[in-house]
Amino acid sequence: MRRIIYLLAFIFLSSTAFAQMSKHGKFAIAIHGGAGTIKRENMSPEREAEYRAKLEEALKAGHKVLEDGGSSLDAAVTAIQTMEESPLFNAGKGAVFTNDGKNELDAAIMDGATRNAGTVAGISTVKSPIAAARAVMENSPHVMMIGEGAEQFAKEQGLDMVAPSYFFTDRRYEQLQRIKETEKQQLDHDGDHEGGDRRQGVLDAKFPDRKFGTVGAVALDQNGNLAAATSTGGMTNKRYGRVGDVPIIGAGTYADNATCAVSATGHGEYFIRSVVAYDIAALMKYKGLSLKEAANEVVKDKLVEMGGGGGVISIDGEGNIALPFNTAGMYRASIDTEGTMYIGIYEDE
Ligand code: ASP
Repeated sequence: MRRIIYLLAFIFLSSTAFAQMSKHGKFAIAIHGGAGTIKRENMSPEREAEYRAKLEEALKAGHKVLEDGGSSLDAAVTAIQTMEESPLFNAGKGAVFTNDGKNELDAAIMDGATRNAGTVAGISTVKSPIAAARAVMENSPHVMMIGEGAEQFAKEQGLDMVAPSYFFTDRRYEQLQRIKETEKQQLDHDGDHEGGDRRQGVLDAKFPDRKFGTVGAVALDQNGNLAAATSTGGMTNKRYGRVGDVPIIGAGTYADNATCAVSATGHGEYFIRSVVAYDIAALMKYKGLSLKEAANEVVKDKLVEMGGGGGVISIDGEGNIALPFNTAGMYRASIDTEGTMYIGIYEDE
């Protein structure tokens, strides 16, 4: 009798464990490398090929983690670190410069299963800002750390530290000089807003070089857990310890298994004021919108109305992916639950 009970218990437990495991089984990932005035006519074929290759490399690295049964957090961090190490993107090496010629980095990560989160802002000596954000989430009672305190914590955590010059690239430094010029012109015409900034076309015409090269990743793992992560140098020519949307949970980064995971890129001030990432999750939760409907409403209606250029990558608990943006282009890539890979830069692809 006892043997039969043991046998029945074993069958029951293993079937529930199996049901748990196969509850999802499916996995998917999406990444971005920034949005902005990215147009074919301004891009050399060589540069475009470089971007596509790096996006593919980062995407596949993250996807492999999921395929091997790893967590969505690990997948997102792996994809992001590939892009942080590449000077092509405005994150880690290759980050943009502040007005006084420094690189100040922000990053965030959120675990959709627990809604735990970690973020860092204004750091200059941690090689991988996303690793610092993750350490804040996993090894501290806090959510957000800034500047020297965040760097001290990262050091104590044994993360790789670098000299601030590690982040320097000529390309970004030249970009700073150009934008400083633009800002002078912008000041000259300071009176001529007249509500024109509401239209993205006007924004693009005013700032033809406006690119937001932040990197981000969102993923669904085989256990049904979502994660979102974002890493950035912020905006070229930023001043006075300016912090953008990326490390503001709910603005540039958000994840909740009940709805979706979102990572944003764009003009951070608008993304903060619109609480973009959380708004997408909230539209799904309270209004019952699909991921695509919610993401489109926020990025293509609300943000455009406000004048906030940019886009998001997003994924829901079923592995549906939406990658809307309201700028000329967004570096983006995904592998869906069927294993189909997509890489896009411009609007029409
Ligand atoms: N959202 C970032 C910021 O405002 C910039 C970007 O997306 O590249 O800091």
